[in-house]
Amino acid sequence: MSEYIEFVEIHDTGKTKIFDVRSLNDGAMLGVIRWYGAWRQYVFMPERVTVWNTTCLKTIITFINGLMKERQKKTCPSGVHIYTTKEDKSLMECERCGKPYSELDAR
Ligand SMILES: [Zn+2]
Repeated sequence: MSEYIEFVEIHDTGKTKIFDVRSLNDGAMLGVIRWYGAWRQYVFMPERVTVWNTTCLKTIITFINGLMKERQKKTCPSGVHIYTTKEDKSLMECERCGKPYSELDAR
């Protein structure tokens, strides 16, 4: 947590979480951190016309890296993954651990 911004969890799908990024100073919404499926990673989506210095950006990066680590810990037992079929197979990832789909998993 930084001196200037806070992260408030507003949603947990069980797979991924969504956080509001707010100013500790006045509670203003600065943006959102959420899972971006196409990139298979958490991303920061800032509000328009917000100002970020390197210290605050670093706080965001540290927080996102923490989320990614937490997510990697959730691995599936004996390589059994759960996929929802999508037309574009490159977008498919395990419901539980986020592992990208590979043909080797189709057994
Ligand atoms: Zn999995």
